[in-house]
Amino acid sequence: SKILVEVRDLKMHFPIHAGVLKKRVGEVKAVDGISFDIYEGETLGLVGESGCGKSTVGRAILRLYDITEGSVKIDGIEIGHTPQSELRTMRPTMQMVFQDPQASLNPRMSVSAIIGEPLDEHTKMSKIEKRAKVMDLMDQVGLNRDFANRYPHEFSGGQRQRIGIARALALNPKFIVCDEPIAALDVSIQAQVVNLLEDLQAEHGLTYLFISHDLSMVRHIADRVAVMYLGRVVELASREQLYEAPKHPYTQALLSAVPEPDPWIEDKIERVILQGDVPSPANPPKGCNFCTRCPQVMEICKTDEPPTFEIAPGHVTACHLYSATNTESAS
Ligand code: SF4
Ligand code: MG
Repeated sequence: SKILVEVRDLKMHFPIHAGVLKKRVGEVKAVDGISFDIYEGETLGLVGESGCGKSTVGRAILRLYDITEGSVKIDGIEIGHTPQSELRTMRPTMQMVFQDPQASLNPRMSVSAIIGEPLDEHTKMSKIEKRAKVMDLMDQVGLNRDFANRYPHEFSGGQRQRIGIARALALNPKFIVCDEPIAALDVSIQAQVVNLLEDLQAEHGLTYLFISHDLSMVRHIADRVAVMYLGRVVELASREQLYEAPKHPYTQALLSAVPEPDPWIEDKIERVILQGDVPSPANPPKGCNFCTRCPQVMEICKTDEPPTFEIAPGHVTACHLYSATNTESAS
C-alpha cells in the first residue's frame, strides 16, 4: 500500500556545551541515521529503552525540532528542512498525542477551549460550527458533552488523555505520533485508551507511529515494529516476524526480558541478561553500537558499523551475524 511517511537517514545531533565560555565540547547523537517508511493506515511501533532516541524521532518527524540531517516526507511532501513558517499548512495533517496528558493540557482552559484551539488556529469556523465540532469530537473519544466547560484537573488521567486525543483529531489528521500515550495511566485504563486509538484508526483510516518501551503493548497494537538502540534502528519487521523470530541480539534480549509469561517467546528464546549499561550517546562505541553489551560480539563488530541486511521480505536487521560471510561460515 501507499507510503505516507518516508524517513531517510535522519540524524538528530545536539551540541554539548561546557565551561563558563559555553564552548562546544561535543555532541549527543540522539538519532544517528535512521530510515523507515510508514504505510497509510498502519501502525508502526517504535520500541527501545528510555534514552534510545525514540521520542526524538517522533518529534523530529513532526518537525517539533529542527532536523540535523536527512529527509522526512509526509504524503510525498519533503518537510525535513522546511522553515517553521511554511510548515503551518502541513500542521493539520500530522498531530501528536503526548505521554503526559496532565502536562500537555493548559490547566486554565476549559475542555471545549482546549479541543477547539486547533480549530481557531487553522480554520475559519463560526462559533456555532466550532461548538458542534467540539461536541462531535467529545462523542468520538467517549467524553460526556456535559463536561465541555470543565477544566482538566476535574478529570481522571484516562479522561485527560481522551481530551488530548480529541484535540489531536480536531483537524482531521492523516498521521498521528503517539508518544507513550498510556505510560502515565493506571494499568486498569490503559487498555481502554489503546482500544480507543484502534477504533479511531479504523474509523478515520489514521496512520500511527506508536512509540513505547512496552513490548507487550506494541505487540498488541502494531502492524510492524522498529527496534531502536542508541540512536539507530537495529531491526524492523512485521509484528509476527519480530516477536516470533527476532534476529538482532538486542531484540532477542529485549524480548527475553518481557516480564509477562509469554509461552511463545519463552520457547524460542533463551533468557538473555545484558551486561553493562547503555553507553552514552555522546560517546557511542565504534563499530556496532551494541558491541559493548552483545552476547554474540565478534572482532569485526568493534571496528565496522554493520550494514542493514534483509533477512526475509520486509524483515531487516543491522548486525554482522547476517552478512554473507558469517551466514556461510555458520552453516
Ligand atoms: Fe552483536 Fe556484532 Fe551483531 Fe552488533 S553486529 S549486534 S555486536 S553480533
Ligand atoms: Mg520518551
